[in-house]
Amino acid sequence: MLTHYFSSRRNIWLTSIFIGIAAALLAGVIQSIALYHSRTERLDTIINNISTHLTEHFSELNKAITHLQTLADQDCQSILSSPSAQTIFELDVSMFMLIKRGHVICSSTTGAINVPLTQIIPQINPHKALDLQLLSGSSGIPRARLAMWLRSSDEDQDGVYVSMNPNLIPYLLYSDHPDNFSKIALVVDDKAIFRLKNSPVDLRTLPDKPTRQIPVQGLPLKLSLYTSGQLSERNMQFILLLSVVCGVLAGFAGYYIMAIKCGPRKILQTAMKNHQFYLVYQPVVKANSLQIVGVEVLMRWHHPAAGEIPPDVFIRLAEKQQMIVPLTHHLLTLLALDAPMLQTILPAGSKLGINISPAHLQSSCFQHDIQQFVAALPEGHFNLVLEMTERAMIDTSQSEANFDWLHRQGVEIAIDDFGTGHSALIYLERYNFDFLKIDRRFVQGIDTETVTSPVLDAVLKLSRHLQLTTVAEGVETPEQAEWLTRHGVDYLQGYWLSQPLRLEALIAAHKQQVKYFTG
Ligand code: C2E
Ligand code: CA
Ligand code: CA
Repeated sequence: MLTHYFSSRRNIWLTSIFIGIAAALLAGVIQSIALYHSRTERLDTIINNISTHLTEHFSELNKAITHLQTLADQDCQSILSSPSAQTIFELDVSMFMLIKRGHVICSSTTGAINVPLTQIIPQINPHKALDLQLLSGSSGIPRARLAMWLRSSDEDQDGVYVSMNPNLIPYLLYSDHPDNFSKIALVVDDKAIFRLKNSPVDLRTLPDKPTRQIPVQGLPLKLSLYTSGQLSERNMQFILLLSVVCGVLAGFAGYYIMAIKCGPRKILQTAMKNHQFYLVYQPVVKANSLQIVGVEVLMRWHHPAAGEIPPDVFIRLAEKQQMIVPLTHHLLTLLALDAPMLQTILPAGSKLGINISPAHLQSSCFQHDIQQFVAALPEGHFNLVLEMTERAMIDTSQSEANFDWLHRQGVEIAIDDFGTGHSALIYLERYNFDFLKIDRRFVQGIDTETVTSPVLDAVLKLSRHLQLTTVAEGVETPEQAEWLTRHGVDYLQGYWLSQPLRLEALIAAHKQQVKYFTG
């Protein structure tokens, strides 16, 4: 049963630790997925922004080159000092050359010349309308370059050649965080240039594939982003921290719910508050006349979901959870409510047997509780008998003081379940008991064939010697009753006479003049 499972602190701790670990793992997984998604979105935004930027940049460059081409008939010096030339340099162009019929006629580095373009830049094909090449750095220009040939619209091999130092810094500015990507590259065919690299790299020789690749509109140029594929150290630290915090919180929440909110103590408190406990009364009769002399009050728990919970289970649970004192208070309250009704069916001087746990006997409120309860009973009608097992007598000085005090209050004491403990005989000698309740295991040993019952015989002899009144519990057959009466047992209690009954059933039995009620 769940209540039983959670009554162990160890089980609660283990379950709480398990909940904590599960919550930490779950938080870690959710956070990783969330971070992964946000990084994916961020990468998409970055690459789209850079691509837009590059498209705009090349569109500007295109315009500037077209303008420069219109100056092709002027002398080189005036071309170089023209505003169009200035504009082109503002677009990351490191040098340009004007070409007529495949010959360079004006270069921004050497001025007017007349050399075939293919001699200076063999990689460029001037027959193409647009050619892009990635060139290695040279002694003059150490960084890798992006070379572009743009043919003039009217003549084959007339056009402008520009060499750009692809400064990727503006694009890198899009990356507001170092976690966004590890590398960025401009790609033409199978070649790529990376930032700060002196020569283009053959993409086929690279071990890693780009995480994102996007073409630049209108150009045979692509942009590639590379990421490490794993979350950054910072993200991992964040996930770890979040997991630990979630795990600890969930663990504590689990502990709080199991141990405090839904723990056995809380369950018992709720059960009392919601009237799940009720009382039953089992008649105790005089052995020779079978007339009722009193009742033993027993507690019952009807749980709305679990049904009837055996008293052995919930009494043990209450004792373990230090809830037996509040539970006995509850019993005394319920009994005080029933007492006026009981008074109408039980003869004056009837005994009310109540089971008292050792912890209650030893508690500081014990005497006050008994005084209060006695005061709540109809005056002078009942004799209170407290039933205790020998477990209650371990602290001898305290028990002795309590027993003396009880006797002064007119309350009687019964030693319950006699014969089931280890040291009952010692207690018999030490304490002043009024009743000795013989455990039902002894009684159930009596059957029709039994001629002698040496242990029971010895117990009965002893109690006669100590002038103790004896009560036999668990009497289930007339043979047992007959044997016990013959051997001098004073009172009988058991299913043969009556099951423990609810107050209404006891009243009904009284009405129906059941044998033990008729005098
Ligand atoms: P107990 O004090 O020995 O109570 C007598 C038990 O014997 C009761 O069990 C009763 O139903 C059962 N009984 C009575 N006649 C017969 C019979 O002829 N045959 C058999 N087989 N059993 C019979 P129950 O009610 O299950 O209670 C079990 C134990 O739980 C009680 O044993 C008592 O130690 C404890 N208990 C019950 N109510 C309370 C309570 O309010 N406070 C405390 N501290 N303990 C309680
Ligand atoms: Ca009892
Ligand atoms: Ca008993």
